Amino acid sequence: MAKKQKTIRQLVKIADRWFSQYIRLKYAFGNGMCICVTCGKPYHWKKIHAGHYIVRVWMRTRYDGCNVHPQCCYCNTWLNGNTEMYHDYIIDTYGQEEIDALKRISRISPNSADRDELEKLIETLKLVVAKLRKDKGL
Ligand SMILES: [Zn+2]
Repeated sequence: MAKKQKTIRQLVKIADRWFSQYIRLKYAFGNGMCICVTCGKPYHWKKIHAGHYIVRVWMRTRYDGCNVHPQCCYCNTWLNGNTEMYHDYIIDTYGQEEIDALKRISRISPNSADRDELEKLIETLKLVVAKLRKDKGL
């Protein structure tokens, strides 16, 4: 029986999962801890979220490393991203120009995900995540 092709929605879900792991592992210290970029509290990389500065509905910045960072559940979910603090973090880390660029890129149309791009992204992320886990021993 031929393998049923995944829908774009399914691919986005898979890419989200790998991208979130990538972000959390990228910022994790050797002991597995990550710092929430908006409140500064430490959490284990498996417990912390990957929070978006520009919300995920905008596909072009959904998988942009400058737009996504470790964020605790409280800031990400209960404080809806803790946007004021996140804005300060982005300014301090990347500068106003990067914020302007992110906003510009996020609004480029069409605001959609491409099957080939998503499949490639997922394959790349799998490799990067495996390497990060190996390198950091996590
Ligand atoms: Zn937090």
